[in-house]
Amino acid sequence: MIQASTPSARTTARIGRTPFIRLQQASLVILALLTSGAGAYTVKAGDTLYSLARSQGITVAELMRLNGLSSTVLEVGQALKLPGEGPVQPPVAAQTEQLVGLTVASPATLRMGDAFVLRLGGPRAAQATVRFLSEVGEKVQLPGEALQPVAFGNEFLVLGRAVLGKITPLVYEVRVGAERLQRTVEITPRSQPLQRLNLPAALSSKLEPAARQAEDAVVEQTYLRRTPQAWSKPFQAALNVRAQSTAFGQPRIYVAGGPVQYHYGIDYPAPAGTAVTAVNDGTVVLAQLFPVRGGLVVIDHGAGVSSLYFHQRKMLVGVGERVQRGQKIGEVGSTGLSTGPHLHLELRVRGTATDPASWINRLWPQ
Ligand SMILES: [Zn+2]
Repeated sequence: MIQASTPSARTTARIGRTPFIRLQQASLVILALLTSGAGAYTVKAGDTLYSLARSQGITVAELMRLNGLSSTVLEVGQALKLPGEGPVQPPVAAQTEQLVGLTVASPATLRMGDAFVLRLGGPRAAQATVRFLSEVGEKVQLPGEALQPVAFGNEFLVLGRAVLGKITPLVYEVRVGAERLQRTVEITPRSQPLQRLNLPAALSSKLEPAARQAEDAVVEQTYLRRTPQAWSKPFQAALNVRAQSTAFGQPRIYVAGGPVQYHYGIDYPAPAGTAVTAVNDGTVVLAQLFPVRGGLVVIDHGAGVSSLYFHQRKMLVGVGERVQRGQKIGEVGSTGLSTGPHLHLELRVRGTATDPASWINRLWPQ
């Protein structure tokens, strides 16, 4: 939530588990282009190859090569492959397990902080119940909650999340009737150098436990909602700005001697007043000014997914209001614990922070 980062941190975030040695950056970015699942982007009015390449931290030549372009002219509506804002995604190749009348596919590996789906198929999929057993003992809401799959096309999906800050394997259990299947998925770390912020006293006093607790309690209450899936289109960016200052999962120490805390969202610096838009359809469940999060809007998208927009100077929606994907909900500001105008965006699954980059331009993560 603090706008304080270095170019090396930004580059490291984009290229994932690679050492950040400046001389190697160009080749690493190209490697990332070749190995990451490139995200789809639709060209908007005002976009240029230069602005898009810059927003991705790559050169125009690299962007042209990624898309096989021979001309620098772009057309509005044209589909472009972008390297994506997040670190290199692990292979999507899923492991498939089988019970009688039920198949279960999960990602082969995950990075901590990833959102993902378990895909259930077969005639008994609708009756299955899933629990993430590795959550028990973790600081998450309702650990090990019994989850019913969401019908989606011919499949049934269960949303999962790999908790940030923990790399012990994820364990899930699928039950159908008297049968039971239990599997593990390896979790890999995010290699991001620790940031020491050394906040000024006026700001750091807002991090005192007493000042924080009341605010946290109000926000965390919204994570307990369980409503039907409200979206039918891919998630989209909350700002017409792609540059990031602080990446998701960045480990930080706010005050000298303090504990390591993870950055639960992505920071997008933008001029005060820039429109903030809903990443997808949903219902506003919180719109309030807080000491730390500033002008905060929380949208419940159903299926346990919520999006949070911090530090706004103006909020244009109220609690209970239904909003649509792309609707303006507020304006970028620097309210709360913030050192300059930016949007801090979070995408949570049942209250646990997941990498927003694993959602943007996707209907489901992974
Ligand atoms: Zn932030």
